[in-house]
Amino acid sequence: MRKIMFSNKVYIVSTILFLISCADTSTPDLIFIGGKVLTVDQNNSIQEAVAVKDGVIIKVGKREEVLSTAKSRTKIIDITNRTLIPGFIAAHEHPTLAAIFADTIDMSGFTFDSSEAMWSNLKTQIKNKEKGEWIFAMGIDPVLIPNLVMPSKKKLDAIAPDNPLFIVSQTMHSFWANSSAFEKVGINKDTPDPGLGSYYGKTDKGELNGFISEATAAAPFVDELKSPFGLIDRYQNTLDDLRKSGFTSVASLGFNLPPFLAKYASSNNLEPRIRQFIYLTKQELEYLPDAVENGDDYYTILGLKLWHDGSPYTGTMALSENYLSNELTDKMGIPKNHKGESRLSLKEFEDQIETYSEKGWQLAVHSQGDQSNREVLKGFDTMLDSKGKLLRHRFEHCLLISHSALSKFKLLGLTPSFHINHIYYYGDALVENIIGDERAQLVLPVKTAFEYGLHPTLHADSPMFPTDAFSLMKTAISRQTRTGKTLGIGQAITVQQALRTMTINGAWQLHMEDKLGSIEVGKLADFTLLNQNLYEYPIDQWDKIKIEQVWLAGNAAW
Ligand SMILES: [Zn+2]
Ligand SMILES: [Zn+2]
Repeated sequence: MRKIMFSNKVYIVSTILFLISCADTSTPDLIFIGGKVLTVDQNNSIQEAVAVKDGVIIKVGKREEVLSTAKSRTKIIDITNRTLIPGFIAAHEHPTLAAIFADTIDMSGFTFDSSEAMWSNLKTQIKNKEKGEWIFAMGIDPVLIPNLVMPSKKKLDAIAPDNPLFIVSQTMHSFWANSSAFEKVGINKDTPDPGLGSYYGKTDKGELNGFISEATAAAPFVDELKSPFGLIDRYQNTLDDLRKSGFTSVASLGFNLPPFLAKYASSNNLEPRIRQFIYLTKQELEYLPDAVENGDDYYTILGLKLWHDGSPYTGTMALSENYLSNELTDKMGIPKNHKGESRLSLKEFEDQIETYSEKGWQLAVHSQGDQSNREVLKGFDTMLDSKGKLLRHRFEHCLLISHSALSKFKLLGLTPSFHINHIYYYGDALVENIIGDERAQLVLPVKTAFEYGLHPTLHADSPMFPTDAFSLMKTAISRQTRTGKTLGIGQAITVQQALRTMTINGAWQLHMEDKLGSIEVGKLADFTLLNQNLYEYPIDQWDKIKIEQVWLAGNAAW
């Protein structure tokens, strides 16, 4: 009894102390001084110090001014010779897909520079597997690996005679499987194709040839990979990697973990904040909450991701003029005299806008080709009322989007997110093999999007490309391909603009610009500390920049 009374007293005293400390609104918990603070405010101002209390920025300014607010319990963090920036915001990634593919065998052109090395590694890895065990490999890519011959089912049967084998291309729009894999998932030559550019490749005799086009046809195979065993651990590792790459918020554009798991993974407050867009598929639609108001600063479902066209590397991007035709486009499975086509008619797209936008859900529309972008714009133009225009509907990837299309965005409240590293990784192939120089010089007009005030962002679409903010920004600034050629150099943006695409503009697209994206009073203290000042450090050295620490709401996360 006495013991309980004692602990009650302790409780009361500590509660009083707690209340006193809460009443103190001016004493910072943390002050950052000694280095540069790139605020990314309206004027891209550079400041000397920042004070944080209860996870929120309470002062930004000159060293002495900020330091004068310190009390004995304020922790001073010395960032001498380093640069504090707002945490990066990843506008369009697929962390669940990255987690799913984390343990697959690597076949990517980022790792291998010859097709011999790639196939020999696959064979060695298969030897270490149990008979009958599923084998998943990822990253096969005829653009990045010269002389690659795309595999037939026969070749894959010879490589993996005793195991089901499933291979995913780097672009994640093409797939291959051997006989055993087709058998396991119950697909044979008579299985109907899902359509809309998604199909099972056939030989002249009508037998399966091993090729699978687009995600719908591949879904039964990918389901095998999604066995929940270990997925949540791999997802957590993916979030750790994103955080260590300087990201404090990540938009997951489909292929999501079920909300209760995603929420659990980001709930310890030291992982990046997650904003999910739900794929417009039967399975993911089950995750869609009843109300637009859901979640919290760490995890929320924002809206829906839908596909209007596909990929330039499978011929599913919808163009107004034909793709080029050559050896590489043959390998990619792009037919001759082919323009690609939109997956949705105008009417179907308008129905989707009506169903979801009118309920207040933000839409993120995958749209790459000029034809697709024109149709998506038309759908929004006829459907959006004044309420819909406030939702900040997004165009995803925007490979070929015209200036005149972008000129209409602001009035309709639309915003683009650019898949900028198409230039770096595939720029040479776009010029020489896929769309030709004239169109390739027009890709990804980021500068024009800035000029129209559209809050453009850049994304890696991981696991397609590595989620590396410096690489994305560098490409938007230099417009350089892997071989050092430039594409559309007139669309190069400044370093300051580049940093905005990865911070404040991302916050705006996620409807969080009041809380995130810049270092200003009243915002959450999500910071990334760099060992170099981005505004001064030469961009050809950016791969050497180190991320030294990340804070989420003032908590040191790493
Ligand atoms: Zn997409
Ligand atoms: Zn994507």
